[in-house]
Amino acid sequence: MSYNKSEIAFKEAYEVIPGGVDSPVRAFSSVGGTPPFIAKGEGGHLVDIDGNQYIDFVQSWGPLIFGHADQEIEQAVMDAVKNGLSFGAPTQTETKLATHIVDMFESIDKVRFVNSGTEAVMSAIRLARGYTKRDDFIKFTGCYHGHSDSLLVQAGSGMATFGSPSSPGVPADLTKHTLLATYNDIESVKKCFNDSENGVSSIIIEPIAGNMGLVPADEAFLQELRELCDEHGALLIFDEVMSGFRASLIGAQGISSVKPDIVTLGKVIGAGMPVGAFGANKAIMAGLSPEGPIYQAGTLSGNPIAMAAGLASLEKLKANPEIYATLEKRATRLVEGFKAAADAVNVPMVTDVRGSMFGFFFSDKPVKNFEDALENNSELFGKFHGKMLEKGVYLACSSFETGFISVATSDEMIEEAIRAAQESLKELTA
Ligand SMILES: *Cc1c(COP(=O)(O)O)cnc(C)c1O
Repeated sequence: MSYNKSEIAFKEAYEVIPGGVDSPVRAFSSVGGTPPFIAKGEGGHLVDIDGNQYIDFVQSWGPLIFGHADQEIEQAVMDAVKNGLSFGAPTQTETKLATHIVDMFESIDKVRFVNSGTEAVMSAIRLARGYTKRDDFIKFTGCYHGHSDSLLVQAGSGMATFGSPSSPGVPADLTKHTLLATYNDIESVKKCFNDSENGVSSIIIEPIAGNMGLVPADEAFLQELRELCDEHGALLIFDEVMSGFRASLIGAQGISSVKPDIVTLGKVIGAGMPVGAFGANKAIMAGLSPEGPIYQAGTLSGNPIAMAAGLASLEKLKANPEIYATLEKRATRLVEGFKAAADAVNVPMVTDVRGSMFGFFFSDKPVKNFEDALENNSELFGKFHGKMLEKGVYLACSSFETGFISVATSDEMIEEAIRAAQESLKELTA
């Protein structure tokens, strides 16, 4: 496989775009090598500018549950384009998409559309703070909620629960209200409630974490979060930007019985167009401008093209709920195949699946939180990633990412990927 054209394109991009990319993970820093520059997507495949074809298990990091260039979604977008790209005024497509979401999610009476997952979470946190009139909130190490200031937080010094900035440019004054807890560890959450001086507005969690590899929360843990929130008058925010319409039609809420107060959505909701959303019950959403005083706005929010793509995709999902069982079966077959390939060469691996999401770690112990995830053999993953790419399998370029199966990812593609994993692992351990 030759990457000549991508190598040149990467150098050219590097001259005019920091790192040559518009989102850091795309630069392949943690696995090495040159990121293939993409010419087009076709169903379950990606084709790069050198003409290499790959089975795509990234699917634009989640959004493309029907695969690349789905004809019905493409048609809906083309129809909408003809009427103009943006109006900055309400359209009925927004109401249609909102109605579907309200129908589907028990915890959502009203929903506001934005342009990204980052924006959805940033706005949800503001809503929770405005509604409870408290500044502090709790987040979990290893969960990613976009790149807004108060969410770019890492553990501070010693045993402090208050976060410190994880990026230069984020003032410590903005992260001191973010308390950090350990995923699946309820004692660490109780400590945050104790340490908060001015009261906790909310807990934000990926109920199925997908940004430290795939690490689902235990049901009992989610229940205890719900109880702690109720006890303290705090809101529970489920960040389902990734898991929504992925783990099940209604994300973690189709798997767990725990009900959040605020839900954030993104990725699949725009089917590849930039869309995010956040929703809650009527009382909470009434706090939002213009109904209430909590400000939030967007020139391109509810963009008619993006809404048309989201609507076409959501209507297909609602009409075909059985796809989740098929996707889960394929994802399970894939990771079982990977695991068997690893077993055959005595490489430890743990795996997990939720609907169309899959994860695997080169690790010999179950992963319940970020600390566990850090113990995976990411050096081996980097080499495995490169071998798989050479064999035409495009995996997420970090051991802390989740993989995605699309409706267009066929059983044959799964078997091909398993064969590639067998060969790759044999070569790496020979
Ligand atoms: C991707 C993601 C975000 C951020 O969404 P962007 O559209 O990249 O801004 C937020 N939360 C979770 C759980 C995500 O997976």
